[in-house]
Amino acid sequence: MSPSARPPAKVLLQAIKGTHDILPAEARLWQAAEAVAKDHFELYGYREIRTPVFEATELFEKGTGQTSDIVIKEMYTFVDKGGRSITLRPEYTPSIARAIIEHRLYLEPAPLRFYYIGPMFRYDKPQKGRYRQFHQADVEVFGEADPAIDAEVVEMADSLLAKLKVEGVEILINSVGCPKCRPDYLNALRRAAETKRAEFCPDCQRKIETNPLRIFDCKVERCRELAARFPLITDSLCRECADHFAGFRSHLEAYGLRYRVEPRLVRGIDYYTKTTFEVVTSHAGQQNAILGGGRYDGLMREYGGPDMCAIGFAMGIERLLEAARLEKKHNRFVYIAYLGEEAKVKAAWLAKIFRSKNIECLLEFKKRGLKDQLSRANKLGASWALIIGENEIRNKRWKLKNFSTGREHEANEIDLMNLLLSESWPPLVPKQNIEGP
Ligand code: AMP
Repeated sequence: MSPSARPPAKVLLQAIKGTHDILPAEARLWQAAEAVAKDHFELYGYREIRTPVFEATELFEKGTGQTSDIVIKEMYTFVDKGGRSITLRPEYTPSIARAIIEHRLYLEPAPLRFYYIGPMFRYDKPQKGRYRQFHQADVEVFGEADPAIDAEVVEMADSLLAKLKVEGVEILINSVGCPKCRPDYLNALRRAAETKRAEFCPDCQRKIETNPLRIFDCKVERCRELAARFPLITDSLCRECADHFAGFRSHLEAYGLRYRVEPRLVRGIDYYTKTTFEVVTSHAGQQNAILGGGRYDGLMREYGGPDMCAIGFAMGIERLLEAARLEKKHNRFVYIAYLGEEAKVKAAWLAKIFRSKNIECLLEFKKRGLKDQLSRANKLGASWALIIGENEIRNKRWKLKNFSTGREHEANEIDLMNLLLSESWPPLVPKQNIEGP
């Protein structure tokens, strides 16, 4: 690129539209939420699986579906230097299914339970709660056909949101049928839509032919009004799907979970069969769906793998953090303030010991006076400052400043180390025996 063809520096110094940096203070909240989610999934027997950020484009075309908005409009697809069509994953399910088939994980005793947390990419219209690079926690179970698992997955999502103090949660459920009952329903939808064809947006007019179920995803007000009068899939389910749905509901009730049947909840992905669900919250703003998922009993077979049923959900982490009431974790650590070369060497050695004992500790090498170092420690939110000046080195007694009480204490090396290494570290009020005068 010639220098004159370069975009102006201002553009270069901005994150790409629809993407965002997660700065350290916010990253702490992410870490906290992710840690809670991972522990929660592990409690239910899920194990982490990690797959590459990009895959062959056909994986999503075939899985997510040719008629889904994701495949039609939202994929980040490019041709790599080897001439392959590559797509940054817009969702995780196809990658997991691919990995299971590729590594023959299906030969392991079923059922298989996996989770993953990471970035997804969709060329969506950026707005609050909707980004082009966003993050999902994704959970999938393979090889469980019983509707009890559908309910357990929803219960797991619900109790996770409770742990993360998300309020105003509502569970929406539906069944989208199966290849046996859905074709008749699609024909009924097509007939209903045909009578109002001219009133639909061009996108929905196309959907009448390709997949009229997708009309329910349309955000255009008039299309939504028209779709509200469409026949309901819950009235067209075959015996098997109706029984499955009834089983799902009764298991949800056994958990004491309140839910609402939302017969227009088809979700924007083509592979769903039987159960679909979404959890929305009044606290996440306009984009109120925190998580969504469903059953996809045909996907593994579609990919040429074994006939293995599956169910899963994906939770948007950005939306979760918008709604969760997470406490900012107090970052408790010792700041070592020192003066002079001898103290510096001592301080570096002590820092190594603290860290080896899992005590977070910071010392900095920029030249500063003791007063400046203490004010810096305070600004950084240190719990303690350990002060090693020339006098302290001479007297072999160090000072410890407790930032929460503002008190300073003096003690010998052993006592101070014991205090800071004690089980209850870092006690906000030091133990009596090292209080000193
Ligand atoms: P989906 O994969 O479309 O079923 O979405 C599952 C969840 O991912 C949604 O409920 C959102 O919380 C989140 N999500 C989906 N798309 C976006 C996006 N563009 N930006 C932020 N979060 C998203």
